[in-house]
Amino acid sequence: MSTTHTGSCHCGKVAIEVEGRIDSGLACNCSICARRASLLWFVPRSSLRLTTPEAAAGTYMFNKHVIKHRFCPHCGIHVFGEGTDPKGNPVAAVNLRCLQDIDLAAIPVHNFDGRAL
Ligand SMILES: [Zn+2]
Repeated sequence: MSTTHTGSCHCGKVAIEVEGRIDSGLACNCSICARRASLLWFVPRSSLRLTTPEAAAGTYMFNKHVIKHRFCPHCGIHVFGEGTDPKGNPVAAVNLRCLQDIDLAAIPVHNFDGRAL
Protein backbone atom coordinates (compact mmCIF):
# COMPACT_ATOMS: atom_id res chain seq x y z
CA MET A 1 0.00 0.00 0.00
CA SER A 2 1.40 3.34 -0.87
CA THR A 3 1.06 6.49 1.14
CA THR A 4 1.01 10.14 0.25
CA HIS A 5 3.72 12.12 1.98
CA THR A 6 3.79 15.88 2.09
CA GLY A 7 6.83 18.05 2.39
CA SER A 8 8.21 21.48 1.77
CA CYS A 9 11.19 23.77 2.03
CA HIS A 10 11.59 25.76 5.23
CA CYS A 11 9.49 28.78 4.27
CA GLY A 12 6.84 26.82 2.36
CA LYS A 13 7.19 28.44 -1.06
CA VAL A 14 8.15 25.03 -2.48
CA ALA A 15 5.83 22.23 -1.38
CA ILE A 16 5.40 18.69 -2.68
CA GLU A 17 3.30 15.57 -2.40
CA VAL A 18 4.95 12.21 -2.95
CA GLU A 19 3.30 8.85 -3.43
CA GLY A 20 5.08 5.72 -2.25
CA ARG A 21 6.53 3.63 0.54
CA ILE A 22 9.78 4.90 2.03
CA ASP A 23 12.14 1.94 2.29
CA SER A 24 15.45 3.72 2.78
CA GLY A 25 17.34 6.97 2.50
CA LEU A 26 20.51 7.52 0.54
CA ALA A 27 23.32 9.58 2.01
CA CYS A 28 25.67 10.56 -0.78
CA ASN A 29 29.13 12.08 -0.39
CA CYS A 30 29.34 13.85 -3.77
CA SER A 31 30.27 17.52 -3.90
CA ILE A 32 26.72 18.81 -3.56
CA CYS A 33 25.13 16.18 -1.28
CA ALA A 34 27.98 16.41 1.21
CA ARG A 35 27.40 20.14 1.57
CA ARG A 36 23.64 20.14 1.86
CA ALA A 37 23.38 16.92 3.93
CA SER A 38 20.31 15.72 2.08
CA LEU A 39 18.91 12.24 2.62
CA LEU A 40 17.50 11.07 -0.70
CA TRP A 41 14.57 8.82 -1.52
CA PHE A 42 14.17 7.87 -5.20
CA VAL A 43 10.72 7.62 -6.75
CA PRO A 44 9.33 7.68 -10.30
CA ARG A 45 9.01 11.36 -11.29
CA SER A 46 5.28 10.76 -11.81
CA SER A 47 4.93 9.99 -8.08
CA LEU A 48 5.96 13.51 -7.14
CA ARG A 49 3.72 16.54 -7.49
CA LEU A 50 4.52 20.15 -6.75
CA THR A 51 1.68 21.75 -4.80
CA THR A 52 3.20 25.21 -5.25
CA PRO A 53 3.84 26.89 -8.63
CA GLU A 54 6.53 25.24 -10.75
CA ALA A 55 8.31 28.59 -11.08
CA ALA A 56 8.63 28.93 -7.29
CA ALA A 57 11.31 26.24 -7.28
CA GLY A 58 14.75 27.22 -8.49
CA THR A 59 16.84 24.88 -10.60
CA TYR A 60 20.56 24.28 -10.18
CA MET A 61 22.59 22.16 -12.55
CA PHE A 62 26.32 21.44 -12.69
CA ASN A 63 28.83 19.01 -14.14
CA LYS A 64 27.04 17.06 -16.92
CA HIS A 65 23.73 18.87 -16.39
CA VAL A 66 21.78 15.64 -16.16
CA ILE A 67 20.24 16.30 -12.73
CA LYS A 68 18.04 19.27 -11.96
CA HIS A 69 18.53 20.18 -8.30
CA ARG A 70 15.31 21.91 -7.27
CA PHE A 71 15.46 24.25 -4.31
CA CYS A 72 13.70 27.25 -2.79
CA PRO A 73 15.35 30.53 -3.85
CA HIS A 74 13.83 32.23 -0.80
CA CYS A 75 14.97 30.02 2.11
CA GLY A 76 17.60 28.02 0.24
CA ILE A 77 16.42 24.52 1.14
CA HIS A 78 16.88 21.71 -1.39
CA VAL A 79 13.59 19.81 -1.67
CA PHE A 80 14.12 17.37 -4.53
CA GLY A 81 16.05 16.59 -7.67
CA GLU A 82 14.93 15.47 -11.10
CA GLY A 83 16.75 13.16 -13.49
CA THR A 84 16.52 9.84 -15.27
CA ASP A 85 17.44 6.33 -14.19
CA PRO A 86 19.85 4.18 -16.27
CA LYS A 87 16.91 3.00 -18.41
CA GLY A 88 15.88 6.56 -19.19
CA ASN A 89 12.82 6.70 -16.95
CA PRO A 90 12.22 10.06 -15.24
CA VAL A 91 12.96 9.86 -11.52
CA ALA A 92 12.86 12.24 -8.61
CA ALA A 93 15.15 12.22 -5.60
CA VAL A 94 13.17 13.53 -2.66
CA ASN A 95 15.02 15.05 0.28
CA LEU A 96 13.53 13.00 3.13
CA ARG A 97 14.50 15.74 5.57
CA CYS A 98 11.81 17.94 3.97
CA LEU A 99 8.94 15.52 4.57
CA GLN A 100 6.65 16.32 7.45
CA ASP A 101 5.03 13.07 8.49
CA ILE A 102 7.89 10.63 8.84
CA ASP A 103 10.13 9.24 11.56
CA LEU A 104 13.54 9.92 10.04
CA ALA A 105 15.39 7.94 12.69
CA ALA A 106 13.46 4.79 11.78
CA ILE A 107 14.49 4.87 8.11
CA PRO A 108 17.56 2.80 7.18
CA VAL A 109 20.30 4.91 5.65
CA HIS A 110 22.51 3.63 2.85
CA ASN A 111 25.74 5.43 2.18
CA PHE A 112 26.58 6.05 -1.46
CA ASP A 113 30.07 6.92 -2.67
CA GLY A 114 28.98 9.57 -5.16
CA ARG A 115 32.36 11.27 -4.86
CA ALA A 116 33.92 8.31 -6.65
CA LEU A 117 31.75 8.72 -9.77
ZN1 LIG B 1 11.59 28.17 1.08
